[in-house]
Amino acid sequence: MVDLKQREVWFVTGSQQLYGPAALKQVAANSSQVAQALNDATGIPVRVVFQPVVKSPEEATAMCQQANVAPNCLGLITWCHTFSPSKMWINGLKQLRKPLAHLHTQFNRDLPWSTIDMDFMNLNQAAHGDREHGFILSRLRLSRKVIVGHWQERGVQAQLGTWSRAAAAWHDWQGAKFARFGDNMREVAVTEGDKVSAQLQFGYSVNGFGVGDLVQRVKAVTDKEIDQLVAAYEAEYSLAPKLRKGGVLRQSLREAARIEVGLRAILRDGDFKGWTDTFEDLHGLVQLPGIAAQRLMADGFGFGAEGDWKTCALVRALKVMAAGLKGGTSFMEDYTYHLNPKRSLVLGSHMLEICPSIAKGKPSVQVHPLGIGGKAAPVRLVFDTPPGPAVNVSLVHMGNRYRMILNEVDVVAPEKPLPKLPVARAVWIPKPNLAIGAAAWLYAGGAHHTAFSQAVTTEMIEDFAAMAGLELVVIDADTKIRQLKQELSWNEVAYGLRGGFVT
Ligand code: MN
Repeated sequence: MVDLKQREVWFVTGSQQLYGPAALKQVAANSSQVAQALNDATGIPVRVVFQPVVKSPEEATAMCQQANVAPNCLGLITWCHTFSPSKMWINGLKQLRKPLAHLHTQFNRDLPWSTIDMDFMNLNQAAHGDREHGFILSRLRLSRKVIVGHWQERGVQAQLGTWSRAAAAWHDWQGAKFARFGDNMREVAVTEGDKVSAQLQFGYSVNGFGVGDLVQRVKAVTDKEIDQLVAAYEAEYSLAPKLRKGGVLRQSLREAARIEVGLRAILRDGDFKGWTDTFEDLHGLVQLPGIAAQRLMADGFGFGAEGDWKTCALVRALKVMAAGLKGGTSFMEDYTYHLNPKRSLVLGSHMLEICPSIAKGKPSVQVHPLGIGGKAAPVRLVFDTPPGPAVNVSLVHMGNRYRMILNEVDVVAPEKPLPKLPVARAVWIPKPNLAIGAAAWLYAGGAHHTAFSQAVTTEMIEDFAAMAGLELVVIDADTKIRQLKQELSWNEVAYGLRGGFVT
């Protein structure tokens, strides 16, 4: 459901009239070649669309205004091939409401040492033209990503790809709708937040719906629809014997399928990009949605358990960033520890709702009692997660602002099989290690729920946080607690000066 090729970024070259028509024609030809190469680059998942060279204040303003209203435009890549006096950009950039990447490149990679003359100098001026551009972006306090290097370099293209993934997720949030069935789990603090300030800052809306509406839709599901979905389960997963045809718990599987069909219908009809539920409010539902939540996530929907709408929206954002990349993305919870001092581990999981996009091998479908919630035993997919690097990302509300926290982790194989654990799981080592990683997380106030991804990188989240105007606390191999505590107290002042202090 996420196709980044439908989205585009605009390639905008700054210049001025001073150079005369012949030089400007060359500027346009060169810029068009750069834009085409970026469009063709495998590291950039969106289309890169060449725009006419900007030579005047009117053109700069029109460009920014058009970008604002173009429905598929994620943002601008700007580059000053020649000198573009920056006062001409002020009115346009003041109005720009989409992300900007400042590509500091040069058409010619190498200096032609033996032939260089003033014609070359006139056409390869980014070294000073982009400094003028950088000044006005800084003067306007405009948040942007600066990328330096030759446009044919893979690393440069990869940075643009990363930025465009973040911009796609940001674009996806604007006007997005998330549905909640039931409120937050009672007395839980971290899953709360300010939905109005979230909509103001992030562009998405969160609204509640009666679980009765869901129940009604689930009841309307036909036997034929259930048959079809159960056949899909049989084709995609290995079913526990009791769930197979003729098995004693076959009816549980059919009930799970009924819930999935009903949920999909509600999400589709309401054009929702994600949803939350809570085990404390399931009146009329036979089971807590398990396999339904898992499979909907695999299709790109955000999900948050216990009414956690912030993590739901975050899971959706990471799904968009990760579109087409190797590695999955899931709702996650730091569940339990292996506190062996030689190698301390986190076992991440949830009661049910882990996305099979992170599964190693074919998931198995199982049914087990839950222990809380007082409902029938829910059907769920059970699997392990393949080893490799991953991130855990959390979004919390600090009273005067939202804070994003990221921990880089290494997923490892479980030390031994977990034959009795009836949930999907991932085992990881937080960076730099569990002691420092978890301490840093606790100092920063990160939640137990996260968006977990083996596809999304720290750089994507960094770019995304900048677009969203979010404080970002990164916990990685370089994290030192003393320094982190200082960073948190400095941020308190920096963000307090912007948005007020909270005591
Ligand atoms: Mn939870």
